[in-house]
Amino acid sequence: MRAARYYDNSDIRIEDIPEPTAGPGEVLIDVAYCGICGTDLHEYLDGPIFCPSATEPTSWTGETAPVTLGHEFSGVVSGLGEGVDDLAVGDHVVVEPYILAEGVDTGPDSVDYHLSDGMNFIGLGGAGGGLAEKIAVKRRWVHRISPEVPLDQAALIEPLTVAYHAVKRSGAKAGDVAVIGGAGPIGLLTGAVLKAFGATVIVSEISELRRQKALESGAADHAFDPRETDIAAKARELTDGKGAQVAFEASSVQVVLDTLMDALRPTGVLLIVSIWGHKADFDMHKLVMKEIDMRGSIAYVNNHPETIELVESGKIDLAPFITGRIGLDDLIDEGFDTLINRNETAVKILVSPND
Ligand SMILES: [Zn+2]
Repeated sequence: MRAARYYDNSDIRIEDIPEPTAGPGEVLIDVAYCGICGTDLHEYLDGPIFCPSATEPTSWTGETAPVTLGHEFSGVVSGLGEGVDDLAVGDHVVVEPYILAEGVDTGPDSVDYHLSDGMNFIGLGGAGGGLAEKIAVKRRWVHRISPEVPLDQAALIEPLTVAYHAVKRSGAKAGDVAVIGGAGPIGLLTGAVLKAFGATVIVSEISELRRQKALESGAADHAFDPRETDIAAKARELTDGKGAQVAFEASSVQVVLDTLMDALRPTGVLLIVSIWGHKADFDMHKLVMKEIDMRGSIAYVNNHPETIELVESGKIDLAPFITGRIGLDDLIDEGFDTLINRNETAVKILVSPND
């Protein structure tokens, strides 16, 4: 079968590799759609980060490069390994793409399996990937979805779950005013979840096209250019002068962090959902004097069922966030290149490995 394989920084190849089979406790999936993620771009430009190199293997799988890429995917069950009896061939599914150590408690009450030692992701650290025709995944990480949800939209459930986990971590609730700094894919999807929760969303974003997207997609009630509009003043206008209850940093840009600190009310919550490749220069005194709670959020933990429910119930429409569809052969030329060099209009580009 054909697969996109990560060899190294700037070296991804579309190759023929052996088809996987469903081992005991595993589910074989025909991949329908796989999204390209900012993390994939980082691996391509600056990696390997989560990916192994040719000499340094991934913890727990022991795999070295090349590995198959793709961790945001949907598909149809095409085979069941020994012992899997609660799914059927033909079921529509999405994958929670974790690689964890044996013995980590991944039960329904766990709140920290995503923080366990050596955590990695299917489609980055090894164990196959969604940028291939097929993948075999442990039953634990396969989530059935309603056939009513289109499979292209279902490929966005993984990044939506990242946003859902961040919103849960923030404690945001109906009636709150939330400010999001940065309207990239995660900022936009965070807006979609907040709106589904009944919050009012202000997006701060310098790109006009991205501001338009935030408004058109229903991810934001208000979208402003922070160079032209005082975001903190707008947040106070909407809250009887108090400021926003919650703010989400989704850009890893210093000035955005400062803007959000000003937009928050005393006792507000600042949620960091972006990946920072450098240290922040942070006004700690402001945090102390406003008693701000600053929290980080990474990936998800037991959040897929509730996120899937938001999509199945129609509370979130993922269609507006799909901005491109390509085949596997065009992954680099049309997919990566668009997202790296012309990313103002692109949100999520989907790859169909079986077309
Ligand atoms: Zn991702």
